[in-house]
Amino acid sequence: MRSRMAGRNFLFVPGPTNVPDRVQRAMMVAMEDHRSSKFPELSTSVLNDLKKVFKAASGQVFIFPSSGTGAWEAALTNTLSPGDKILAARFGQFSHLWIDMAQRLGFDVEVVEVEWGEGVPLGRYEEILRADKRHQIKGVLACHNETATGVTSDIAGVRKALDAANHPALLFVDAVSSLVSIDFRMDEWRVDLAVSGSQKGLMLPAGLGILSVSQKALSAVADAKSRRCYFDLADMIKANAAGYFPYTPALPMLYGLRESLNIIFEEGLEEIFSRHNYLAEGVRAAITAGWRLKLCAKEPKWYSDTVSAIVVPEGINAAHVIDVAFRRYNLALGAGLSKVAGKVFRIGHLGDLNELMLMGAIAGAEMAMMDVGIKVTAGSGVAAASEYWRSHDPIPRKKVSQDEQFYESHSTGSIHG
Ligand code: PLP
Repeated sequence: MRSRMAGRNFLFVPGPTNVPDRVQRAMMVAMEDHRSSKFPELSTSVLNDLKKVFKAASGQVFIFPSSGTGAWEAALTNTLSPGDKILAARFGQFSHLWIDMAQRLGFDVEVVEVEWGEGVPLGRYEEILRADKRHQIKGVLACHNETATGVTSDIAGVRKALDAANHPALLFVDAVSSLVSIDFRMDEWRVDLAVSGSQKGLMLPAGLGILSVSQKALSAVADAKSRRCYFDLADMIKANAAGYFPYTPALPMLYGLRESLNIIFEEGLEEIFSRHNYLAEGVRAAITAGWRLKLCAKEPKWYSDTVSAIVVPEGINAAHVIDVAFRRYNLALGAGLSKVAGKVFRIGHLGDLNELMLMGAIAGAEMAMMDVGIKVTAGSGVAAASEYWRSHDPIPRKKVSQDEQFYESHSTGSIHG
């Protein structure tokens, strides 16, 4: 590596994502008393506005000073009892890790193994739920966006499978790498627990675990026998009611969150989803039409608008591409995890991002691939992405329903600067 890397590091892992300057500035605050009479202004404004990004008019959102993994644990332990049966599908490292956690917490997980590159198998879910006549399955897990493989699953479809089977299980969704980037509808899909984190679409550093909980799931908390303490929603509900936390909150992160929510409402949620789709299509054009390589996602219906996992040709170790990109070009690409380690590298395309930033990632990935001997044509990825972006509208104007207008309504206000 050069002794000094001048210029910016190009951060294109699928989280943590780039933190906008406005958010960084908002987080540069002196510490203050989190028990002051003023503090609830900040906490209630971010808690209320987070409901809008989940598209949740009912239920409650919780913020933990943790990461997404903490919110996974909070979701499971607050609503289930040891030995409870859970239905889950494994098709990537993150769907795997949630299953692993559920098993370690003492739940009985029925795991449906799915090829990596596909998502939640709706037909199989429906069959299993229909066969569970005694309703022993208490929770159904679905990873909305599997970050390891770049696969997005159909959560509305999971809800339909539950409804078709007339099954009362709680629907748990991992929205860590989809929230604020890919459309997510807590109320409409009747999701019961939606887990997210601060370092992806919310454009903050890692450090907050965020959990949206439906009214139905809130009613399950009192009877859930799993042991919990730090993540107990009952303590949070009590403290949050007055605008406080049961322990010291991550104050600068909350100021950062306030600013990131302001930015999100300025752009508009629906516009953000469109921008992510448009940027992702350009990246996919670079991969398939430009480099003539394959995505790990098996079919277009699984394509993720937040991350693309690119399969390198046989005989090449994808880790070398990542290392050359990092050491030589100051570009951070996502690694292949577990089963796909060495086989794929990932470009994260979520958060505070535009075409030309992505052009840097595409050009850097292309140079690194050529350096390690992958036969791609110089400039082909950039040319294909440019062709796509130049010929498409970033934000196709579509009819916005009244519901969407409601959720697009503005934030409750800006605290701090
Ligand atoms: N779920 C998904 C889909 C993720 O992408 C990640 C992290 O990348 C996690 C869960 C775990 O979140 P965290 O690393 O914030 O604990």
